[in-house]
Amino acid sequence: MLDSYIKESILARAQKRGLIKITTHNLRDYASDKHKMVDDRPFGGGAGMVLKVEPIFKALMALKKQKTKNKKQKTKILLLSAKGKQFTHEMARRFSKLDRIIFICGRYEGVDERVAEYIADEEISIGPYVLTGGELPSMVVIDAVSRHISGVLGNEESLKEESFVPYSKLQAKGQKSGVGVRKLEIAQAEYPHYTRPEIFKPKKGVRWSVPKILLSGDHQRISKWRKAARS
Ligand code: SAM
Repeated sequence: MLDSYIKESILARAQKRGLIKITTHNLRDYASDKHKMVDDRPFGGGAGMVLKVEPIFKALMALKKQKTKNKKQKTKILLLSAKGKQFTHEMARRFSKLDRIIFICGRYEGVDERVAEYIADEEISIGPYVLTGGELPSMVVIDAVSRHISGVLGNEESLKEESFVPYSKLQAKGQKSGVGVRKLEIAQAEYPHYTRPEIFKPKKGVRWSVPKILLSGDHQRISKWRKAARS
Protein backbone atom coordinates (compact mmCIF):
# COMPACT_ATOMS: atom_id res chain seq x y z
CA MET A 1 0.00 0.00 0.00
CA LEU A 2 2.70 2.44 0.99
CA ASP A 3 5.40 1.48 -1.49
CA SER A 4 3.41 2.58 -4.53
CA TYR A 5 3.41 6.15 -3.21
CA ILE A 6 6.83 6.43 -1.59
CA LYS A 7 8.60 4.99 -4.61
CA GLU A 8 7.43 7.72 -6.97
CA SER A 9 8.17 11.34 -7.74
CA ILE A 10 9.42 13.82 -5.12
CA LEU A 11 9.49 11.35 -2.20
CA ALA A 12 11.40 8.80 -4.27
CA ARG A 13 13.98 11.40 -5.33
CA ALA A 14 14.34 12.64 -1.74
CA GLN A 15 15.04 9.10 -0.57
CA LYS A 16 17.53 8.44 -3.35
CA ARG A 17 19.39 11.60 -2.39
CA GLY A 18 19.40 10.52 1.27
CA LEU A 19 17.33 13.49 2.45
CA ILE A 20 14.66 11.28 3.99
CA LYS A 21 14.32 7.57 4.71
CA ILE A 22 10.94 5.81 4.91
CA THR A 23 10.70 2.31 6.33
CA THR A 24 7.59 0.19 6.89
CA HIS A 25 7.15 -2.43 9.62
CA ASN A 26 4.61 -5.22 9.89
CA LEU A 27 2.96 -5.45 13.32
CA ARG A 28 2.43 -9.18 12.82
CA ASP A 29 6.19 -9.64 13.22
CA TYR A 30 5.71 -8.60 16.85
CA ALA A 31 2.70 -10.78 17.69
CA SER A 32 3.41 -13.41 20.32
CA ASP A 33 0.89 -16.16 19.47
CA LYS A 34 1.29 -18.75 16.73
CA HIS A 35 -1.49 -17.23 14.59
CA LYS A 36 0.26 -13.82 14.64
CA MET A 37 -2.89 -12.10 15.91
CA VAL A 38 -2.62 -8.33 16.31
CA ASP A 39 -6.29 -7.62 17.05
CA ASP A 40 -8.96 -8.80 19.46
CA ARG A 41 -12.57 -8.06 20.47
CA PRO A 42 -13.30 -4.87 22.46
CA PHE A 43 -13.84 -5.04 26.22
CA GLY A 44 -17.36 -3.91 27.10
CA GLY A 45 -18.76 -5.11 23.78
CA GLY A 46 -19.33 -3.27 20.53
CA ALA A 47 -18.62 -3.70 16.86
CA GLY A 48 -15.31 -4.56 15.21
CA MET A 49 -11.87 -5.57 16.33
CA VAL A 50 -9.29 -3.48 18.18
CA LEU A 51 -5.52 -3.47 17.58
CA LYS A 52 -3.74 -4.80 20.66
CA VAL A 53 -1.31 -2.79 22.76
CA GLU A 54 1.26 -5.60 23.10
CA PRO A 55 2.55 -5.95 19.49
CA ILE A 56 2.62 -2.16 19.14
CA PHE A 57 4.66 -1.85 22.35
CA LYS A 58 7.08 -4.58 21.19
CA ALA A 59 7.47 -3.00 17.74
CA LEU A 60 8.25 0.36 19.34
CA MET A 61 10.81 -1.20 21.69
CA ALA A 62 12.53 -2.88 18.72
CA LEU A 63 12.61 0.39 16.77
CA LYS A 64 14.01 2.29 19.74
CA LYS A 65 16.83 -0.25 20.05
CA GLN A 66 17.91 0.25 16.44
CA LYS A 67 21.38 1.74 16.27
CA THR A 68 21.51 5.28 14.93
CA LYS A 69 24.52 7.48 14.22
CA ASN A 70 22.95 10.37 16.09
CA LYS A 71 22.53 9.27 19.72
CA LYS A 72 20.54 12.37 20.68
CA GLN A 73 18.09 12.17 17.80
CA LYS A 74 14.75 13.93 18.30
CA THR A 75 11.98 11.38 17.78
CA LYS A 76 8.18 11.64 17.93
CA ILE A 77 5.70 8.79 17.98
CA LEU A 78 2.49 9.76 16.19
CA LEU A 79 -0.71 7.76 16.43
CA LEU A 80 -2.99 8.28 13.43
CA SER A 81 -6.56 8.60 14.67
CA ALA A 82 -9.78 10.23 13.44
CA LYS A 83 -10.32 11.70 16.92
CA GLY A 84 -6.78 13.12 17.13
CA LYS A 85 -5.54 16.69 16.90
CA GLN A 86 -6.13 18.22 13.48
CA PHE A 87 -2.93 18.01 11.40
CA THR A 88 -1.93 21.44 10.07
CA HIS A 89 0.67 23.14 7.91
CA GLU A 90 2.28 24.50 11.09
CA MET A 91 2.61 20.98 12.53
CA ALA A 92 4.20 19.81 9.26
CA ARG A 93 6.78 22.56 9.58
CA ARG A 94 7.43 21.69 13.24
CA PHE A 95 7.72 17.94 12.59
CA SER A 96 10.21 18.56 9.77
CA LYS A 97 12.74 19.63 12.43
CA LEU A 98 12.65 16.15 13.98
CA ASP A 99 15.22 13.45 13.15
CA ARG A 100 12.74 10.60 13.20
CA ILE A 101 8.96 10.15 13.23
CA ILE A 102 7.33 6.82 14.02
CA PHE A 103 3.76 6.45 12.77
CA ILE A 104 1.32 3.99 14.31
CA CYS A 105 -1.35 3.14 11.76
CA GLY A 106 -4.67 1.85 13.07
CA ARG A 107 -7.08 -0.51 11.32
CA TYR A 108 -10.51 -2.04 12.00
CA GLU A 109 -12.29 -0.30 14.93
CA GLY A 110 -9.09 1.43 16.04
CA VAL A 111 -6.25 0.97 18.51
CA ASP A 112 -6.29 -0.02 22.20
CA GLU A 113 -6.50 3.30 24.05
CA ARG A 114 -3.41 2.46 26.13
CA VAL A 115 -1.34 3.21 23.03
CA ALA A 116 -2.58 6.82 23.08
CA GLU A 117 -2.27 7.00 26.87
CA TYR A 118 1.22 5.57 27.34
CA ILE A 119 3.05 5.09 24.04
CA ALA A 120 2.25 7.81 21.50
CA ASP A 121 3.49 11.38 21.88
CA GLU A 122 0.63 12.83 19.84
CA GLU A 123 -2.63 11.61 18.32
CA ILE A 124 -3.08 13.11 14.86
CA SER A 125 -6.08 13.31 12.56
CA ILE A 126 -5.76 14.37 8.92
CA GLY A 127 -9.36 15.57 8.78
CA PRO A 128 -12.90 15.23 10.15
CA TYR A 129 -13.81 11.99 8.39
CA VAL A 130 -13.12 8.30 8.99
CA LEU A 131 -10.82 6.29 6.71
CA THR A 132 -10.33 2.54 6.74
CA GLY A 133 -6.76 2.67 8.02
CA GLY A 134 -3.88 4.87 9.16
CA GLU A 135 -1.64 4.12 6.17
CA LEU A 136 -3.04 6.83 3.91
CA PRO A 137 -3.05 9.44 6.74
CA SER A 138 0.59 8.58 7.53
CA MET A 139 1.45 9.16 3.85
CA VAL A 140 -0.32 12.53 3.96
CA VAL A 141 1.74 13.56 6.99
CA ILE A 142 4.99 12.21 5.48
CA ASP A 143 4.33 14.10 2.25
CA ALA A 144 3.49 17.39 3.99
CA VAL A 145 6.45 17.13 6.39
CA SER A 146 8.99 16.15 3.70
CA ARG A 147 8.29 19.30 1.68
CA HIS A 148 9.78 21.33 4.55
CA ILE A 149 13.04 19.41 4.59
CA SER A 150 15.80 21.31 2.89
CA GLY A 151 16.48 20.02 -0.63
CA VAL A 152 13.32 17.93 -1.01
CA LEU A 153 11.54 20.47 -3.23
CA GLY A 154 13.31 21.57 -6.38
CA ASN A 155 12.43 25.19 -5.72
CA GLU A 156 12.13 26.16 -2.06
CA GLU A 157 10.68 29.54 -2.95
CA SER A 158 7.36 27.69 -3.37
CA LEU A 159 7.22 27.12 0.40
CA LYS A 160 7.27 30.81 1.22
CA GLU A 161 4.02 32.07 -0.22
CA GLU A 162 1.75 29.06 -0.39
CA SER A 163 -1.63 28.31 1.24
CA PHE A 164 -1.67 28.13 5.02
CA VAL A 165 1.38 30.29 5.55
CA PRO A 166 -0.08 32.57 8.25
CA TYR A 167 -1.23 35.86 6.70
CA SER A 168 0.50 37.82 9.51
CA LYS A 169 3.88 36.41 8.41
CA LEU A 170 3.27 37.48 4.84
CA GLN A 171 2.13 40.93 5.95
CA ALA A 172 5.28 41.34 8.01
CA LYS A 173 7.21 40.76 4.80
CA GLY A 174 5.00 43.22 2.90
CA GLN A 175 3.32 40.50 0.81
CA LYS A 176 -0.39 40.57 0.02
CA SER A 177 -1.26 36.96 -0.80
CA GLY A 178 -1.75 33.98 1.51
CA VAL A 179 -4.63 32.65 3.57
CA GLY A 180 -5.03 32.34 7.30
CA VAL A 181 -4.54 29.01 9.06
CA ARG A 182 -7.87 27.25 8.64
CA LYS A 183 -9.36 25.67 11.72
CA LEU A 184 -11.35 22.46 11.56
CA GLU A 185 -13.17 21.02 14.50
CA ILE A 186 -14.21 17.44 15.11
CA ALA A 187 -17.95 17.22 15.63
CA GLN A 188 -17.88 14.21 17.89
CA ALA A 189 -15.11 11.74 18.62
CA GLU A 190 -15.71 8.07 19.24
CA TYR A 191 -15.22 6.58 22.71
CA PRO A 192 -11.89 4.86 23.56
CA HIS A 193 -11.47 1.14 22.81
CA TYR A 194 -9.62 -1.47 24.84
CA THR A 195 -8.92 -5.13 24.14
CA ARG A 196 -6.99 -7.98 25.79
CA PRO A 197 -4.91 -8.20 27.89
CA GLU A 198 -6.83 -6.69 30.81
CA ILE A 199 -3.53 -5.66 32.39
CA PHE A 200 -0.47 -5.12 30.21
CA LYS A 201 2.88 -5.06 32.02
CA PRO A 202 5.40 -3.26 29.79
CA LYS A 203 8.09 -3.75 32.46
CA LYS A 204 8.47 -4.93 36.06
CA GLY A 205 6.30 -2.92 38.45
CA VAL A 206 4.35 -1.13 35.68
CA ARG A 207 0.72 -2.01 34.91
CA TRP A 208 -1.39 -0.53 32.14
CA SER A 209 -4.96 -1.52 32.98
CA VAL A 210 -8.27 -1.43 31.17
CA PRO A 211 -10.87 0.78 32.96
CA LYS A 212 -12.66 -1.59 35.37
CA ILE A 213 -16.11 -0.53 34.24
CA LEU A 214 -15.55 -2.13 30.81
CA LEU A 215 -15.12 -5.51 32.50
CA SER A 216 -18.26 -5.14 34.64
CA GLY A 217 -20.76 -6.54 32.12
CA ASP A 218 -23.12 -3.71 33.15
CA HIS A 219 -24.10 -2.38 29.73
CA GLN A 220 -25.96 0.64 31.04
CA ARG A 221 -22.96 1.87 33.03
CA ILE A 222 -20.60 1.05 30.15
CA SER A 223 -22.75 3.05 27.78
CA LYS A 224 -22.79 6.01 30.23
CA TRP A 225 -19.00 5.80 30.65
CA ARG A 226 -18.51 5.72 26.88
CA LYS A 227 -20.70 8.77 26.40
CA ALA A 228 -18.69 10.69 29.01
CA ALA A 229 -15.37 9.47 27.53
CA ARG A 230 -16.04 10.89 24.07
CA SER A 231 -13.54 13.70 23.90
N1 SAM B 1 -13.63 3.68 15.14
C1 SAM B 1 -12.77 4.79 14.82
C2 SAM B 1 -13.50 6.10 15.03
O1 SAM B 1 -14.71 6.16 14.93
O2 SAM B 1 -12.79 7.12 15.27
C3 SAM B 1 -12.32 4.70 13.37
C4 SAM B 1 -11.29 3.66 13.11
S1 SAM B 1 -10.72 3.69 11.45
C5 SAM B 1 -11.84 2.64 10.64
C6 SAM B 1 -9.25 2.74 11.50
C7 SAM B 1 -7.97 3.54 11.58
O3 SAM B 1 -7.86 4.42 10.47
C8 SAM B 1 -7.79 4.43 12.79
O4 SAM B 1 -7.38 3.71 13.93
C9 SAM B 1 -6.75 5.43 12.31
O5 SAM B 1 -5.44 4.92 12.44
C10 SAM B 1 -7.09 5.55 10.83
N2 SAM B 1 -7.87 6.77 10.52
C11 SAM B 1 -9.15 6.80 10.11
N3 SAM B 1 -9.55 8.05 9.89
C12 SAM B 1 -8.48 8.86 10.15
C13 SAM B 1 -8.26 10.26 10.10
N4 SAM B 1 -9.21 11.11 9.74
N5 SAM B 1 -7.02 10.71 10.44
C14 SAM B 1 -6.04 9.88 10.83
N6 SAM B 1 -6.21 8.53 10.89
C15 SAM B 1 -7.40 8.03 10.56
